Amino acid sequence: MHGSGLKITFMMMIKTRFPRCLVLVGAAAVLTACGSLAAAPEHSGSRHGAPMPPASLASRLDDPPSGGESASSGPGHGGGAQGGGLEGVPPSGGASASDGGQGASGAYRRWGLDRPLERPPAPPAVKPSLERSGPWGLPPIVRRVPTDQRVVFVTIDDGIEKDPRFVEQARDLGLPFTGFLTDNVIGTHYDYFDRLRRLGNSMENHTLTHPNLAGMAYDDQVREICGQRDNVWNHFGQQPRLFRPPFGEYDDSMLRAAAFCGVRTVVLWRAEMETHGLAYRSGGHLLPGDIVLAHFRGPEQLEGKSMTDMITELVRAIQAQGFTIGRLEDYV
Ligand SMILES: [Zn+2]
Repeated sequence: MHGSGLKITFMMMIKTRFPRCLVLVGAAAVLTACGSLAAAPEHSGSRHGAPMPPASLASRLDDPPSGGESASSGPGHGGGAQGGGLEGVPPSGGASASDGGQGASGAYRRWGLDRPLERPPAPPAVKPSLERSGPWGLPPIVRRVPTDQRVVFVTIDDGIEKDPRFVEQARDLGLPFTGFLTDNVIGTHYDYFDRLRRLGNSMENHTLTHPNLAGMAYDDQVREICGQRDNVWNHFGQQPRLFRPPFGEYDDSMLRAAAFCGVRTVVLWRAEMETHGLAYRSGGHLLPGDIVLAHFRGPEQLEGKSMTDMITELVRAIQAQGFTIGRLEDYV
């Protein structure tokens, strides 16, 4: 309608015998406008045009649920990510996402795997319902997605390490994950995470400065959560709907602040990738639907191991237990 209105305007201009140069100037303006619209989002995702002001983001809260468990902080800090699926960018090996992103090329061998990452099962047509708790319709809290599928979800937190080889690895393996980003360790390097996002992975909210939000004043909680929501929107044109509280710590006030900032679901974890392997909150193995926490970490934090070493170990551990990796946003 926008375009047809312009067309009518030009036809009127021509019919009313506007000077030809004026018509040409008008046409140039339209081309310029169309060019900028087309160039802006390379990944449509949830982008709907220009960034929305915070007020309209808050008012678009479409899914306020409630949370229930009180999380004890993980060893490091919370944050994990999972979920990204490939949405149109072919893996580097020339394989398509449909063969696991690597089957034909064997690129998985480059990363020390003995087989490709198995393609995840089709996600449910309807997302599983998550238990909401509390009387205010606050966001649900999820550690494990309700599913019987042999699928787990990888989440990667913070953003301290920006290893360019991880971009290649994620692309080669067709690795779906969700990033939970903290502004003060990313600084001016959002472009790195945008490369990962453009592989089809979602980048979500992990606060501005990574504080323990439990017990903080509501206004400060809002500043941390809404502030990082705005950063994600401004850099990626994607409104974060998932939120991971640092250290997995939260209280009712934080859940209200999260709801105010447009958070749909609070994502915790049931397994965590540590320097020497997976650790579980209970039991000794993965369960269907487990959310796995990892971090953007490098040799300084991993006793000399690289980010890609850690990811290879994680994928091996997931494969060894008979699971593959799904895209979290398809389920929550
Ligand atoms: Zn964290």
